[in-house]
Amino acid sequence: MKKLILLFFTIFLFGCNTKSYNTAYNDYYKNQQLYINALLNNDKKTQIKALKELIECGEYLNFDISTYKKKYQSLIKTSQKKVKKTSYFSKYIKIHSTNPLKITIPSNNIKHFVIKRKNIYKEVIDIKNAITPKFIKRKIGNITLKIAQFNKNTVRIVYSSNKPFYFKYEIKNNKLYTYLYPKTTLTKKTNYKKTVFNRKKVIVIDPGHGGKDSGGIGIGNRYEKYAVLNIAKKLANILKRKGYIVYLTRKSDYFIPLKKRTHYANLKKANLFISLHCNIAPKHITSPRGIETYYLSPTRNERAIEVARLENKEIAKLNYLDQRVILNFLNKDRIISSQKFGIDVQNNIINTLRKKYKYIKNGGVRPAPFWVLVGTQMPAILIELGYLTNPLEVKRLFNPTYQYYLAKGIAKGVDSYFKKNP
Ligand SMILES: [Zn+2]
Repeated sequence: MKKLILLFFTIFLFGCNTKSYNTAYNDYYKNQQLYINALLNNDKKTQIKALKELIECGEYLNFDISTYKKKYQSLIKTSQKKVKKTSYFSKYIKIHSTNPLKITIPSNNIKHFVIKRKNIYKEVIDIKNAITPKFIKRKIGNITLKIAQFNKNTVRIVYSSNKPFYFKYEIKNNKLYTYLYPKTTLTKKTNYKKTVFNRKKVIVIDPGHGGKDSGGIGIGNRYEKYAVLNIAKKLANILKRKGYIVYLTRKSDYFIPLKKRTHYANLKKANLFISLHCNIAPKHITSPRGIETYYLSPTRNERAIEVARLENKEIAKLNYLDQRVILNFLNKDRIISSQKFGIDVQNNIINTLRKKYKYIKNGGVRPAPFWVLVGTQMPAILIELGYLTNPLEVKRLFNPTYQYYLAKGIAKGVDSYFKKNP
């Protein structure tokens, strides 16, 4: 009986862009955002897709991706049918896998060589004692991949391009993995940096709530959504006069879901995101007042969590585990820059207002899990401009002059942040 030589053979194509460390790094965070948004949308399919790419990028970058893997596994368990199509291994091209048994590709059966001619670059791998049932040809960027039966006993894999590219292969757990990415030139990178650096600063201002969501309702039946919109408009005018490019997530009284606010900021490639809110005192705290600036961060502080809870109503449906997962995935650099931004804004608001008004209380800069800040890719803060449940502050929050100085203070904070972090 003729012995059948079976080959279980896989090729690994990066969904993660591994052109360079930088692009892989960017892809990593892009997919992180995609994953967070998918989580907020309860979109399982996108969650799986994003996690898959996160794992690929993370592996390339040598990041700790154990949490992603865990989450990925749990997603597979809950939706096993769907996962068959979009599993972690969907990017492997299975050439021949009729046998479910373990099939090895001994490394001494693999021969790798390079062909370089004028304008032709080829990376060739010959696998001896292998059979592929079909001819495969596909494009990966400007690189062409061909897999074919070279002769009776040999399968040949050829990556070819008219430009040099980086190629690497390895055998792991009896599977062949190939990695490739085009060689990027240094000049391209510096050009890219230059254009970004010279770009005018973009600021997205997010007046909280709106429409059916009135936000907090304070003394005298005053609605949070109106106060923050007026202050946001004043802030926008001041920033525009200073030369910034400014966008508002809403310009009048209508409802926008939380995730759309951050999505908008990302879309506008904002350098800073400022969400404006007014506070409501919890019943057990007597006559609280003050201005507080928050940046997104996991926290155990009860008071911060309580403030966040009031603003987070919309995503309350998200389960506790998912909330923890998101917060644990936050980018540390962005937390730090958001905190710096928060400190600049808070200090400038307090200093500006104290020149004109008495009884201005500095509530400080604090970390809190505000969901409106979760999806942002830039430093982002949420300012609780004052308490609608405090008789003096509610009066001021609806007074145009006070609103103006409040906005002026925030704008000074923006200036101060960019001065230190150009
Ligand atoms: Zn609010």
